[in-house]
Amino acid sequence: LAAVAAVDLVKVYGSGDTAVRALDGVTVGFTRAQFTAIMGPSGSGKSTLMHCLAGLDTATSGQALLGGTDLTRQSDRVLTKVRRERIGFIFQSFNLLPQLTAEQNILLPLELAGRKADRKLFDHLTESLGITARLSHRPSELSGGQQQRVAVARALVPRPEVVFADEPTGNLDSRSGAEVLLFLRNSVRELGQTVVMVTHDPAAAAYADRVVMLADGRVAGEVERPSLASVT
Ligand code: ADP
Ligand code: ADP
Repeated sequence: LAAVAAVDLVKVYGSGDTAVRALDGVTVGFTRAQFTAIMGPSGSGKSTLMHCLAGLDTATSGQALLGGTDLTRQSDRVLTKVRRERIGFIFQSFNLLPQLTAEQNILLPLELAGRKADRKLFDHLTESLGITARLSHRPSELSGGQQQRVAVARALVPRPEVVFADEPTGNLDSRSGAEVLLFLRNSVRELGQTVVMVTHDPAAAAYADRVVMLADGRVAGEVERPSLASVT
């Protein structure tokens, strides 16, 4: 079974004449220990799909499965718990808390979940990400690339069932972006981490093991082991 799956997922915003069918019956599975990119034009439903699979939004019908849990049937209280304890997030705008140091930001999700950090994994990831010398700094003292690497550590240190990355390179120059993507690709292989990334950038999608394309709220195709040419 996939780590995460959508089964005939439908999301309608609004009602009547102005209703928008953002997802029009999406069925797709995201395999464990794979780095998948979701691509598609603006308005094709990428964010909506990710939000429904991450328990940030509730679908209209169908199933949004995380392990054995159908997120379309859970209360807000349960969804908050699921997001906190089972999912890692990487955002376009980093979303670090400005008053906390890099280290405190990385450890915050574990603290909120009442869990202890795996110190070996923390040291290993922060070293591989090249941020050990920055751990006592606040986000305002870090470059964009460093902030995103802190956010990547924050998402991976708890070893969540899945990491969702929403346009993770959208605010980075191409070199910092490539570093982050290469790191994600390597940690998927090394840690067996499942990562699902939404992007409209073919250069970013080319780092993934698999690309799922959306168009008009439906799955329009997929590419395994993408080359840059196959996703442009
Ligand atoms: P694909 O790669 O073609 O999407 P998967 O093996 O990921 O295939 O999933 C095949 C089907 O199995 C999904 O469409 C879904 O119906 C079902 N499925 C996948 N993961 C789960 C799960 N965690 N729980 C229940 N059903 C699942
Ligand atoms: P993408 O991420 O691929 O750009 P979205 O998932 O954001 O696509 O949007 C899919 C469709 O749903 C678009 O037509 C968009 O305008 C619409 N949509 C998204 N969010 C909302 C919302 N909160 N209310 C109404 N329509 C929305």
